[in-house]
Amino acid sequence: MGDLFTGLRPAAQIDADLAERLPAYTRNEAIVEASNCLYCFDAPCMVACPTSIDIPGFIKLIQTDDRLGSAQRILEQNILGSSCARVCAVEELCEQACVLAPHEGPIKIGRLQRYATDEVYRDPNGFARAGLVSGAPTGRSVAVVGGGPAGLASAAELRIAGHDVTIFDRQPELGGLAMYGIIPLREPSEVAQWEASQVIALGATAKVGCEVGVDVSGEELLEQFDAVFLANGAGRRVSSISLVGAEADGVEDALEFIEEIRVQRPSDVPVGRNVVIVGAGNTAMDAATIAARLGADVVTCVYRRTQGEMTGYPDEYEHCLKDGVRFRWLTQPVRVLTDDTGHVSGLECRVVVLGEPDIDGRPRPTVTDDVVVIDCDHVLLATGQLREPGLYERFGLDVEWDRPKMTGPFHTSDPRVFAGGDAVLSGKELSVVDAVAQGRDAARAIDAYLEDHA
Ligand SMILES: Cc1cc2nc3c(=O)[nH]c(=O)nc-3n(C[C@H](O)[C@H](O)[C@H](O)COP(=O)(O)OP(=O)(O)OC[C@H]3O[C@@H](n4cnc5c(N)ncnc54)[C@H](O)[C@@H]3O)c2cc1C
Ligand code: SF4
Repeated sequence: MGDLFTGLRPAAQIDADLAERLPAYTRNEAIVEASNCLYCFDAPCMVACPTSIDIPGFIKLIQTDDRLGSAQRILEQNILGSSCARVCAVEELCEQACVLAPHEGPIKIGRLQRYATDEVYRDPNGFARAGLVSGAPTGRSVAVVGGGPAGLASAAELRIAGHDVTIFDRQPELGGLAMYGIIPLREPSEVAQWEASQVIALGATAKVGCEVGVDVSGEELLEQFDAVFLANGAGRRVSSISLVGAEADGVEDALEFIEEIRVQRPSDVPVGRNVVIVGAGNTAMDAATIAARLGADVVTCVYRRTQGEMTGYPDEYEHCLKDGVRFRWLTQPVRVLTDDTGHVSGLECRVVVLGEPDIDGRPRPTVTDDVVVIDCDHVLLATGQLREPGLYERFGLDVEWDRPKMTGPFHTSDPRVFAGGDAVLSGKELSVVDAVAQGRDAARAIDAYLEDHA
């Protein structure tokens, strides 16, 4: 892309500023933190964890210096415990529910989980050491479409049950958004890669660079496998915004920008000096943080509603403010302005007023005639992924709006085809830990189906 820059800051500094944000606990720190836990009976933190990890149990094991036992306790419920320790919105999940939260502050569950799972992380036999091994062969086979958190969790559970599993993913590597979407400040890509390698070590087969519906058809999968699990995520990284001139040089999808950071050395990723991000969700905040740390002079998030309606987490918003990111509320971009070379030079926006609540309860934005022009040389669109109902049609499934019509938990209109993860979730449940819970529980539903249809 022309007219964008690398080298706005020293490479070593960029790489350091985009490395994992929180340091690992030392043994001493972990044991001291674990000692503060009250080990509640009916612990509310466990209820708040979508994968129902035995949190008091694993913390107790840390306190008694049994780090491997603690890792086992976590991984038996959540095979992506290493990722979740880093990426879970703990302030809205387990830590928010901790009885100590309103007093001296919650037990640092996420950081303790990382301490425990780091015991097996990077070990090529890590899952096996934690007691996760494949079951006796059943002779039944399952195709998993999508190798993100939901697909990997289902594949692991199905292998433990003894079924043959083949994971199909159109990306060159497994991991889904945990590999290609989550910023390295939160989770280095090596963590997602190691977790995927452990699912393969359990005996799952991976067909990467293989798009179901293009390289292999739905019918072929239904012929070759006893069941299919659709864990294909929330769609392609194509933003659903009608912005005139969005094809201009210097305008790109925010997820594409984040993916560049994941697959290249961060300091090699080009950025503008004056970057505008359209949106105020978590993808927008992640892209803004990266742009600021790559060295952009000005980074502005433009959002058509206000801070009160933004979907980004408050913590991420605070991080953005610390990185100098500006927020421009009640502003709707309508047109990309370009210079003589066709490169973006500004965004024409309209001022918005908020009206009555719309279908999701948020005030409806109404665009006025008041025009604002924001100068910029790089626009990142963070306005959501585009779901792909065509895939479900290729399996002959009933589709409801843009998702498979569900006839029961994980069951689609075809009894052989199951679905879960981002493919069926929405809102705050679009998260790694919810996808893991869905993948694991869908695998149990598939196992029950295979047993009933022997
Ligand atoms: C920028 C960004 C930041 C995020 N940050 C966080 C965070 O900090 N914490 C958190 O908990 N969650 C975060 N999330 C959300 C989280 O990453 C997702 O909710 C989670 O990855 C969903 O898992 P999944 O397996 O359902 O889908 P995905 O991770 O999307 O995986 C789906 C997989 O299916 C593949 N696929 C799709 N269609 C086909 C096909 N036809 N054939 C073959 N393969 C196919 C895709 O290539 C992909 O690998 C973030 C999301 C984004 C976009
Ligand atoms: S998986 Fe996530 S929500 Fe569950 S205990 Fe671990 S950090 Fe908390």
